[in-house]
Amino acid sequence: MGAGIVGAACAAECARAGLKVLVLDRGPIGGGTTAAGMGHLVVMDDSPAQFALTSYSRRLWHQLAPQLPADVEFDPCGTMWVATDEQEMAEVRRKEAFYRERGVKVEVLDGPALAQAEPNLRRDLVGGLCVVDDAVLYPPSAADLLLKQAQAAGADVRTGVEVRSLLPDGGAVLGDGTRLAAGIAVNATGPWSPALTPGLPVRKRKGHLVITDRYSGFVRHQVIELGYLKSAHAVAADSVAFNIQPRKTGQMLIGSSRQFDAEGTEINQPILDRMLRRACEYLPTLGRLSAIRCWTGHRAATPDKLPLIGPSLDSDKIWLATGHEGLGITTSLATGRLLADRLLRRSSEIASEPYLPARLAKGAAQHD
Ligand SMILES: Cc1cc2nc3c(=O)[nH]c(=O)nc-3n(C[C@H](O)[C@H](O)[C@H](O)COP(=O)(O)OP(=O)(O)OC[C@H]3O[C@@H](n4cnc5c(N)ncnc54)[C@H](O)[C@@H]3O)c2cc1C
Repeated sequence: MGAGIVGAACAAECARAGLKVLVLDRGPIGGGTTAAGMGHLVVMDDSPAQFALTSYSRRLWHQLAPQLPADVEFDPCGTMWVATDEQEMAEVRRKEAFYRERGVKVEVLDGPALAQAEPNLRRDLVGGLCVVDDAVLYPPSAADLLLKQAQAAGADVRTGVEVRSLLPDGGAVLGDGTRLAAGIAVNATGPWSPALTPGLPVRKRKGHLVITDRYSGFVRHQVIELGYLKSAHAVAADSVAFNIQPRKTGQMLIGSSRQFDAEGTEINQPILDRMLRRACEYLPTLGRLSAIRCWTGHRAATPDKLPLIGPSLDSDKIWLATGHEGLGITTSLATGRLLADRLLRRSSEIASEPYLPARLAKGAAQHD
């Protein structure tokens, strides 16, 4: 269930492994959060499990890169984390050591080197960390490519089909009442996954993005403030952070905001203003660029910031591939691989236990 990038990656892996696969989505391919996201393929180090999943998945994206058609707009531009003061520079050095120890290619830049690498950044920045092999792409086209791969391996993809409920035997009931039989149902419906798996602790976390007209070279890397991590972690309050991405089209994609308890898709003007003001603090001439569109999307957030990949607590015939928060584009390929490995009882390249939904039961027991 779900033809977003996560469902597409699961379908491609399962079909390639010889399973009979049917993908259902009520909308178009990649039209949910996948169309709303930023498409930054980024290695993150919040926790060992997050690092393992993001670095494994980024490796899978690099392996797939030669097969990606032009419309996926894959661009290995790297990430530039920028520091405003010595405290953030200490974080740069911590991240550098963490990544280097684990074989991730990084470069530390001082203030002048950063100004040379990104001339439009304000001049008083202390330095930055470039994560060289991070990349960006256009997510809906990537989802489309993965589903084409699934179809080439025999999968059936049906769009415009609402799924009303999942059955404990792996089947599904469609919006028109039709019952479909299946060995396993995979709920990959992102922020809507609790509707098909009631009680799932996945919350919608709203985000805003703005895209500009074409200004090729205005920034050369995905540039992010180190304070982004504070924003991503701030679960209580609405938060914004400076995050800008150069697109292959020459456009600049500007983010990002995070809000819980904001279910609607409408633009929240005060949040958008805060987000753009923050970006202008880092890029003083940004205000001269024309914005052509802004939109919102909802990330699927779990309590421990890790996705849910594997059998649900309700039934071993209903599997989950959801809860990827702000990293689902990055981690989609690893999700598909880990899900197929577990379904087929193959060994996995990284430990899959940290992402198993079974941890929710343990968490509840500990909480009690
Ligand atoms: C503002 C923002 C910026 C982001 N930036 C990044 C980034 O830079 N890098 C990154 O890695 N990630 C990013 N993300 C996160 C990423 O976009 C998501 O994690 C990812 O798209 C999730 O994909 P998905 O397939 O799980 O969900 P979706 O793309 O939402 O797919 C779920 C699908 O399920 C379908 N569906 C739902 N309910 C039903 C039903 N009942 N019946 C049939 N179909 C149904 C929907 O139509 C939808 O197509 C960002 C997200 C946001 C909001």
